[in-house]
Amino acid sequence: MTTLAPPNSAERLTALLKQIFGYDDFRPLQQEIMAASLAGLDTVAILPTGAGKSLCYQLPALVRDGLTVVVSPLIALMKDQVDQLEAAGVAATYLNSTLDPAEMRARQTGLDQGEYQLLYVAPERLLAGDFPRKLAGWNVRAIAVDEAHCISEWGHDFRPEYRQLASLRERFPGTPFLALTATATPRVREDIIAQLRLADPQVFISSFNRPNLSYRVIPKEKAIRQVWEFATARPLDSGIVYCQSRKSTEALAAALRAEGISALAYHAGMEAAERSSNQDAFLRDEARVVCATVAFGMGINKPNVRWVIHADLPKNVEGYYQETGRAGRDGLPADCLLLYSRGDVVKQLRFLDEISDEQARAVAQAQLDQMTGYAEDDGCRRSHLLEYFGESWPHDNCGGCDSCLTPRETYDATLECRKLLSCAFRIRQHSGFTTGLQHMADVIAGGNTEKIRRWNHETLSTYGIGRETPRADWVALGRQLLKSGLLCQSQDGFSTIALTNDGLNALKDGRSFTLTRPPAAARADSASATAVAKAGDIPCDEGLFAVLRAVRKDIADARDVPAYVVFSDVSLRHMARDYPTQPDALLNTPGVGEKKLAEFGAPIMDAIAKWITEHPRQAFTPLKAAAAPARKMQAEGALNGTALATLERFRAGISIEGIAKERGLSISTIESHIARAIEGGEKLEPRTFYTLAEEEEMQAAFVGYEGLALAPIHEKLDGRISYGKLKMLLAFRHRSEVC
Ligand code: ADP
Ligand code: ZN
Repeated sequence: MTTLAPPNSAERLTALLKQIFGYDDFRPLQQEIMAASLAGLDTVAILPTGAGKSLCYQLPALVRDGLTVVVSPLIALMKDQVDQLEAAGVAATYLNSTLDPAEMRARQTGLDQGEYQLLYVAPERLLAGDFPRKLAGWNVRAIAVDEAHCISEWGHDFRPEYRQLASLRERFPGTPFLALTATATPRVREDIIAQLRLADPQVFISSFNRPNLSYRVIPKEKAIRQVWEFATARPLDSGIVYCQSRKSTEALAAALRAEGISALAYHAGMEAAERSSNQDAFLRDEARVVCATVAFGMGINKPNVRWVIHADLPKNVEGYYQETGRAGRDGLPADCLLLYSRGDVVKQLRFLDEISDEQARAVAQAQLDQMTGYAEDDGCRRSHLLEYFGESWPHDNCGGCDSCLTPRETYDATLECRKLLSCAFRIRQHSGFTTGLQHMADVIAGGNTEKIRRWNHETLSTYGIGRETPRADWVALGRQLLKSGLLCQSQDGFSTIALTNDGLNALKDGRSFTLTRPPAAARADSASATAVAKAGDIPCDEGLFAVLRAVRKDIADARDVPAYVVFSDVSLRHMARDYPTQPDALLNTPGVGEKKLAEFGAPIMDAIAKWITEHPRQAFTPLKAAAAPARKMQAEGALNGTALATLERFRAGISIEGIAKERGLSISTIESHIARAIEGGEKLEPRTFYTLAEEEEMQAAFVGYEGLALAPIHEKLDGRISYGKLKMLLAFRHRSEVC
């Protein structure tokens, strides 16, 4: 790589990181991205929300002897960023339609005179009127395109004006571009590169895991009550509740206000003035909760959103991930809760019917299925999300989702499963067609519906065999059997239910079934969510923290900026651990640079000094870089979330092929999961996988073989015995060696 930047730029970056931003270390990939950009290369940075993308262009801007232009899609965001930079002592400004002509002129004069290092502008302004000519006179050294996914129609926030940015390339041919986004899909990434005409760019992509976020799904019952309980249990914390409709955002906000929680609504149907005043109130901690549609989002730079609730089912996993991602930007623990009901799925299915374009409907249907798959997954939520983005979670227990924190109870469901499967069988046998799950539940529960009478289903031998169980439980069980591949749903739009071959075999061979129970507690605030040590947590003197928050609010109000522009919660929590009362000590606090020390240090140090004369100092154990995730029960200790999900299905009696099909994974992956479970001590029998004759044949082929690859053995056996069987044999051998 050619290095055009001054050779000492790495050292200068580190020094400025501390001096201006108050941080000792770079976050993952920050340094690499800055180095590439300073070397004059086009660069693409794909990092999740909260990873610290802004710093990737802000810090190099301080090293360059010219202007860095930042293209930003939202006016509110520009002001916010410039406020934060000014508070840290950086010469930054923005130009947009909110400025009056005099202010606009003043800033342009400043730019003419080279007074600024960073300029934020909206894309449409960059190319309008004589702006390009002016820009050419401002010594532009780099162009950063923030929220770069806006350029792609495949992204979730397409903005046509971003498309014009390519013409900047022609005007500034030698100037490096840096495109930044939190959208991970390859299609969007390729689109960014093509649309911006990036020249052989350096592309940096980090993991999309958000270790400080916890994920939970609970059955939705009374959504308002559940949200209220959740918010009340966290009286100091800000949060966002996402709702499907504009009306429900307003209803929910009003209901919460009636219960004494400062909540406001936000949706695209509101007057612009009201919308921005509600957003402002949230940013300034005057409203603690925002009930919003998905219109509330990209501009939310607020780092201390402590929780996000989805009161309705999101339309797709990508959107869900982005929305939950607005929690915990500051790296402190934050909670994401999804209230899930099948009723929501049915509602969305109805919306789908209204989509006339067949292709679009199919896409929406697939997205809904993926979302439902997430909500109904009894495996690790984190690994589910990461797998969605093509990443795998290498640990057995994430320590931060409902499945990993409270493993589901399993029970013997053999009798119920047999009842349901045989009912499906009888209906088909009797009528020659299949029916929906609801009807099937009516038959088992012995209902008296119009359909039952019309089709004479009261004459079936399975009619009424499940009267003792509530009808809704039969529907729920049906869903589980659908998920396990014993039943399948027709794709003809009527969603009728049929037995699969697997289901038929299961019925015939009389096998037993173990299922997991759905979580019983629908309380939004179960104790388990708060009792565990959370990743990213910074234990501190909570009393002092509350005092420092009040001091910060006063400073912020006096400057007419949100509190986080002054200091982040992370900084305050460090202060409330270390009790700095001298400038040197305060400067050691993460997020405290020289300018902030000079400007806001005195009232903070005074407050701390006063506090320690009146209260005993608390001691804290040193912070670890990252908390190791808790381990699950030892028999399953060797398995990660995805292997565990396979094992649970296998235990429930589903075949390897069935699991592969259901999970969309290859048969060989499923075999590897099971082989690992066998090695880990799972009680399985060799005869489940191969006959005695096959075992002897394989054993003979392995004699004298020391290698690891299976191919030579497979060949030696002329391919008579599958790789899967060979893998299982080895697993049983390893297990007996260990035990
Ligand atoms: P993104 O744009 O990727 O969502 P931000 O740029 O808003 O993330 O940064 C998130 C938070 O992380 C901010 O509060 C920022 O000050 C902080 N941050 C960024 N870089 C570092 C670092 N190297 N060390 C500590 N905190 C950092
Ligand atoms: Zn988990």
